[in-house]
Amino acid sequence: TERTLVLVKPDGVRRGLSGEILRRIEAKGYTLRAVRLLDATPALLHKHYAEHEGKPFFEPLVEFMMSGPVLAVVAEGEGVIPGFRSLAGATNPTEAAPGTIRGDLGRDWGTAVVQNLVHGSDSPESATREISLWFPEL
Ligand code: ATP
Repeated sequence: TERTLVLVKPDGVRRGLSGEILRRIEAKGYTLRAVRLLDATPALLHKHYAEHEGKPFFEPLVEFMMSGPVLAVVAEGEGVIPGFRSLAGATNPTEAAPGTIRGDLGRDWGTAVVQNLVHGSDSPESATREISLWFPEL
């Protein structure tokens, strides 16, 4: 079955939205395969966000992702990779549609990095790569 990596970013954990976000994943019919709360290291984040290295928001993004614990989740189900991205909504919470995690729960705080509550893998290749980074034992 298809698997994706979901991260509840530090803003989501800090605001007490972890349960609400997991609830939406389960309510949609996806299965939680693994869940872990951890403090991400610079090495892990540099690998995870390798495609963004050199962009203006890269260092603020890594700093933000280390500002508190991250909840890493492997969610499983038919079509879960695009399905979770639909649940998450557009990258910018101001533009994200109501009904989505970012649209309902996020806002643009005018910070150097978009604090948009969640990450979800964008392709099967990304999902495989990211799951092995965050859950090496899986
Ligand atoms: P994610 O990969 O986290 O699900 P995404 O696919 O919507 O989000 P990406 O383009 O992969 O967005 O960017 C990764 C993250 O970097 C975003 O979720 C956001 O936190 C931050 N980000 C992306 N673009 C910008 C930007 N132009 N300015 C500030 N932060 C940004």
